[in-house]
Amino acid sequence: MSIIEQMKMTDFETASRADILQLLTAEGEVQQELFQWARDVRRENNGDDVLLRGVIEITNICNKNCDYCAMRASNKDLPRYALNAEEILDIAQSIKQAGITTVFLQGGQNPHNDVLLEQVIPRIKNDLKMDVLLCLGERTQEVYEKFAQLGAKSYIVKFETSDKVLYQEIAHGSLENRLQTVRWAKSAGLKIGTGNIVGLPNQTIQSMADDILLGIKLRPDFISSAPFIPNAHTPLEHGTHGNINLALNTMAIFRVALKTPLIPSISALESLVKGGQRMGLEAGANVLTINFTPKESQLLYKIYSEQRFVVSLDHALRTVESAGLHVHQNS
Ligand code: SF4
Repeated sequence: MSIIEQMKMTDFETASRADILQLLTAEGEVQQELFQWARDVRRENNGDDVLLRGVIEITNICNKNCDYCAMRASNKDLPRYALNAEEILDIAQSIKQAGITTVFLQGGQNPHNDVLLEQVIPRIKNDLKMDVLLCLGERTQEVYEKFAQLGAKSYIVKFETSDKVLYQEIAHGSLENRLQTVRWAKSAGLKIGTGNIVGLPNQTIQSMADDILLGIKLRPDFISSAPFIPNAHTPLEHGTHGNINLALNTMAIFRVALKTPLIPSISALESLVKGGQRMGLEAGANVLTINFTPKESQLLYKIYSEQRFVVSLDHALRTVESAGLHVHQNS
């Protein structure tokens, strides 16, 4: 019996690291079988629709110091920016005009921005009648509750790696605290997103398998897997990028194990390989995020790499079509 047939009869809640490792390292025909299984599970649970989101990168000011990110507080070479409320609302309006119903506000961890969010979230939710997704770093439970009361629907806090020692080294904080913020966001009534990075320096394949087990245990509403991409002006700038196949396999395993979550096919896949986001959709993903950040700010939003791929609406539509899927009708 192949590993795929065997895993189809296994409850992922009880899957072992050895089981996950076999799926994670799948190549050739076995990998294609895994991707086909992921597409079948997506179709059964979510249909063949791809949800489009519009992201606004509201600030590159951050008080954290993640070693893989050029927006880290210690990078004094990077000019900083923060969009104001009117700029954000104008862009949200453009997202709505593009037929997209989710505004994704992403930014560095900068609690000074929370005053601005008090103005912006209710206006996007109530005036524009759009969903608000946030990815703005760690906050207290009270702040997550406030975001929910203001009208935010969802919040993303990626755990990045399940390896406590590696997390401490690269993110300069405790993994337990990070996971606590995921639980706080969930208990505040927000839908939660999380995910990992694949191919960090000193990350073992066993620890990547543990990432998958952790992702399954968290039962998120959204989950992603991002290949590590070395970023200039960071301590990890001389590392080598993560293996795209490991990221795609991770996404496929999340799909077959968790069934219903939204799984984005992220722009970093396209940065590594032309057609990478189509490959993500073929591995079971069902979300594409289109970048609506003003050009001059996009250039300063260096979360992944200098050569990041910026997703346009045209690119997203072509990618959905090339994967034989459809844009979600309410998007
Ligand atoms: S990854 Fe996020 S939290 Fe970490 S330094 Fe970059 S912007 Fe800040």
